[in-house]
Amino acid sequence: MSGESGRYSCMMDAHFETGTAAADVERLAQWLAARTRVTVITGAGVSTESGIPDYRDGDGNWKRSQPVQYRDFVENDAVRRRYWARSFAGWPMFTAARPSTAHIALVQLEKLGRVARIVTQNVDRLHQRAGSREVVDLHGRLDVVRCLACSNRTWRDALQMRLRDANPQWSTSPARIAPDGDAELEDADFSVFVVPACEVCGGMLKPDVVFYGESVPRETTAAALAAIESADGVLVVGSSLMVWSSFRLVRAAAARGVEVVAVNRGRTRGDDLFAFKCEGECGTVLGAVT
Ligand SMILES: [Zn+2]
Repeated sequence: MSGESGRYSCMMDAHFETGTAAADVERLAQWLAARTRVTVITGAGVSTESGIPDYRDGDGNWKRSQPVQYRDFVENDAVRRRYWARSFAGWPMFTAARPSTAHIALVQLEKLGRVARIVTQNVDRLHQRAGSREVVDLHGRLDVVRCLACSNRTWRDALQMRLRDANPQWSTSPARIAPDGDAELEDADFSVFVVPACEVCGGMLKPDVVFYGESVPRETTAAALAAIESADGVLVVGSSLMVWSSFRLVRAAAARGVEVVAVNRGRTRGDDLFAFKCEGECGTVLGAVT
């Protein structure tokens, strides 16, 4: 894996040395200048500069252990304890993350009348905190918790206090956090972690995000497809498009004859569908076109 990453680093260096990157940026600037209602699809790459790491490497492969699967979460008590223990530890760092250069550049592109909407795979709400107004949270939002039995929604911050009260011996100082806000905890005995239940009905609580193995809600998919249908161009930023929910949007745009371009470091599932791609860090490229 490290060899693959190294290969991309070399490619990046070559781009900058030959000036290709600058040409790509200029091409992107012209592409944006010719449009007034671009829909942007964003992935983890826009949040890495905010301190929230990416799941995948430059070839779209997992960098670390895969995230929890929906079925495992709802069927396995031990998986839930482990999930919430890690989430409890990672939450303070996750909420401390601030919008990056890429988030801020996308707000600017909205103000300039180039970007109309953002469809994000991220669950961190950093687009909204940066000031973007038209955002579809394709995979939900981590700052809300939903009861799987009665659908009652509460703030994740409120659950953090309940988690703390129920587990006074657990600390919230992890070594590092993951894209979904949980923390990597070594040698912890998750079997003693107490997971609170819904205060309304006693049901099982789950973050209001789409887990792997879970379907995107129908109304969210409809909003995302509507954002594609109304667009005069689609810009993919910081996503390898490895999940179907985002790849299908790019396919839908291409099928409609809407031009799709990308800013990403490394290979993506949609490479064959792009008019062109800027190989590079999201903040660097977007910062240069605003
Ligand atoms: Zn409930």
